[in-house]
Amino acid sequence: MSTDDAYLVGLRLAGKKVVVVGGGTVAQRRLPLLIASGADVHVITKAATPVVEALDGITLTLREFRDGDLEGAWYVIAATDDPAVNAAIVAEAESRRVFCVRADIAIEGTAVTPATLDYEGLSIGVLAGGEHRRSAAIRTAIREALQQGLIAEAGEDAPGVIKGGVALVGGGPGDPELMTVRGRRLLAHADVVVADRLAPQELLAELSPDIEVIDAAKIPYGRAMAQDAINNVLIDRAREGKFVVRLKGGDPFVFARGYEEIIACAEAGIPVTVVPGVTSAIAVPALAGVPVTHRGMNHEFVVVSGHVAPGHPESLTNWDALAAMTGTIVLLMAVERIEQFAKVLLEGGRPADTPVLVVQHGTTTAQRVLRSTLSEVPERIRSDGVRPPAIIVIGPVAAFGA
Ligand code: SAH
Repeated sequence: MSTDDAYLVGLRLAGKKVVVVGGGTVAQRRLPLLIASGADVHVITKAATPVVEALDGITLTLREFRDGDLEGAWYVIAATDDPAVNAAIVAEAESRRVFCVRADIAIEGTAVTPATLDYEGLSIGVLAGGEHRRSAAIRTAIREALQQGLIAEAGEDAPGVIKGGVALVGGGPGDPELMTVRGRRLLAHADVVVADRLAPQELLAELSPDIEVIDAAKIPYGRAMAQDAINNVLIDRAREGKFVVRLKGGDPFVFARGYEEIIACAEAGIPVTVVPGVTSAIAVPALAGVPVTHRGMNHEFVVVSGHVAPGHPESLTNWDALAAMTGTIVLLMAVERIEQFAKVLLEGGRPADTPVLVVQHGTTTAQRVLRSTLSEVPERIRSDGVRPPAIIVIGPVAAFGA
């Protein structure tokens, strides 16, 4: 028989004896799903990988395969590194009328393992006539299409369809590939998207025209504060039964007022889901070549908002403490007042030659990178015309990647 003729089936293996012969990396990859199926899994192998040895929920026997090992088995996987042994296992399974997968030469087995995928109650299996890369690639493509909402389920009651409420979603630092899978999936289900300036704009462009996109910066707010106006839009649309995605740049709780929106929705009785995001504070330096920590160099990194000046009555930052530390300082919203921040850090004892990295529009095609020192960075930022949004990294790590 050829694997092309394989008949795709789902096995209910709970409590049934399954024998896996071999304990190397091939067996290791098959075992988790077998264990999850509730099968009574027996592994017989001369040698096991540390991962196989540590697996809970299997009976491990360390010896060679023998005749009789398949006694009582419902399903067998021959995954040793010895073709002759695998052939003997297939032969014994055949004589006992037990289906057997042969890992090294799939076409010689009486069963084949599909590339599989579990997604919100769906089980999907793909066979490609023995072309493993093809079946795996198609499986992965199906998963991505489901996650991005490109394949939708018919019917309002299909599982996974969100029926209302608000999702507070972190959009990542700008590059659409840096948004979480969950965030992408919820965005694909949105009826309304309320987006910040720093949310990944390319993702908004991809949305279907029937989805209402509201630019949070442009919501008219009359006598109400802007944040109140945003909260009101979220609540009003959710009350109309719409599913609202509140899309923010980076992570919704890093200097993004996300928790104020949670409180407002909670007070209005609107359910909110939070989807964390990749924060620009870490990702933007990383993609410009700078790790925020490095062994032996710093034991702390501090993310600081520069939206008020040092010494301002509303400032909650202890700049003297930041100056006294040796670790990394990541400044957000700090372009406008960089002179004051550099001054207070220098006066507090940070060395003048402390490396500084400045990244404008990080992770996007418009990214600009500037490298300087603490004493010179204000002047450089002005002469180079750096504008927000920009991240300023101060500390020894900022010298990396130059
Ligand atoms: N919640 C966001 C930060 C919001 S505060 C996050 O977690 O990333 C806005 C500030 O973030 C900007 O003024 C800028 O300092 C920084 N920022 C956000 N995205 C950026 C980007 N792509 N490049 C550089 N700085 C960015």
